[in-house]
Amino acid sequence: MAYNFLTGREYLKKKKFKEKKKLISVALGFPDLAFAVGGIPVFPIRMESFEVNKYLLMLNSATSVLGWSLTSKFLDFARQFDVLKIVDKILEDVITSIHSKYNEMYELGVNNGVPSELCYGINALYGMHLSKGKNLDANLNFAMRCGEWNKFYESLKTTVPNQITIEVPPKNPENENMALEQMVNSVKRAISDLEGITGNFVTDNSLEKQFRIGNQVKRFYKTILYEISSSNFYPCNPASFAEILALLTITFQDYNSNAQRYLNNMSQLVKEMRERIKKGIGMDVSHMPRVLFAPMYQGWEPEVHEIIYKLGGRIIYADWDLLGLLEEIPLSKNSDHIEDYSRFLLNASTKGIGCNKENMTNSYLAAAKKMNIDGLIFNQVYGCPSISKTYDILKDKMKTELNIPSIVINFKKIGENIEQVKKSVEPFMERLKNKY
Ligand code: SF4
Repeated sequence: MAYNFLTGREYLKKKKFKEKKKLISVALGFPDLAFAVGGIPVFPIRMESFEVNKYLLMLNSATSVLGWSLTSKFLDFARQFDVLKIVDKILEDVITSIHSKYNEMYELGVNNGVPSELCYGINALYGMHLSKGKNLDANLNFAMRCGEWNKFYESLKTTVPNQITIEVPPKNPENENMALEQMVNSVKRAISDLEGITGNFVTDNSLEKQFRIGNQVKRFYKTILYEISSSNFYPCNPASFAEILALLTITFQDYNSNAQRYLNNMSQLVKEMRERIKKGIGMDVSHMPRVLFAPMYQGWEPEVHEIIYKLGGRIIYADWDLLGLLEEIPLSKNSDHIEDYSRFLLNASTKGIGCNKENMTNSYLAAAKKMNIDGLIFNQVYGCPSISKTYDILKDKMKTELNIPSIVINFKKIGENIEQVKKSVEPFMERLKNKY
């Protein structure tokens, strides 16, 4: 999965120039329509060149020659030679490589027109489109987040002229039918625009095929979040485990541009994790408090999971679940796929991406309860006028309703605030460990 992410540029070039496929920019985890129309969804940072760790290159060659099962057996055998350290190193390098690129994109955004007081995520996305946006055939945007986000997409018109926007109307118990009707119309318009750009048609079959793959991906994702992450024994150390969760957060946005391959990777990942746990390969984490760290998809300090690990805890990143994007799309026999997809989008907008404080708080509480976490670290992103304001209510409710302590840390740019993060989380972890 990491290899597919980092070598995206070559893959995308092949798709665009040899196979004449259309590249559709997406973000947040909405690649389904782009796949269903036969396009290639791309989270735009993947058009950049990344440094690829030499062990990762070797590992990838080994899996293509031996297959994953044999490679995995070899890794088990080689474990006595400390291969786990190599795997940790690979993951660390992958995350470092991705984040230095993120910072580069952020700088590009800040230096070319985006006011730096906007959040890290918007600056970085702007930079990504500025850097390689000319290769995109269209941009598929879901307009249901904050005003800054929508203004930013408006401003992209100069870089990517084909802007396809799906409006997500507010939903409440009184207007449910009307909201659904508006949503369906908006999805239909977007499909027709996508058909015009790709020259292909979206059919019931193409939607069903994509939603089926997406549902399986989400099931594996939830298995990792709920079954593996709550286990007392991890298949690797908790910092590496958090790195895997971070990689899932980033790659879920476009499924590394290949839905079937992404599903295979997810299935392999879950299988591998379960087998390692069964064989007792990994680490006893029963004494380490579990801390939910969120939100992080619009930028966070990745060093934090290493810091928490060294302080005796383990971090869980679960943004897409908190925001309702891991809900499955029902696929019953006579179902109307466009309507079901519209309902999924509306429901997601009532969890967090719609930027409603109360909905977001409830979504955090539900997940915290279900995941049985011991503490929450809220990531307050500089320049965010909406999500970041949720913290005060959230902290109170976490305490009064679930007796879970929370702290907030501030984030502006990767690597900028590490000492401050350490200072904030040290006493917090002490408190959690004393309770544990
Ligand atoms: S809600 Fe906040 S963090 Fe998210 S895009 Fe808007 S400003 Fe950025």
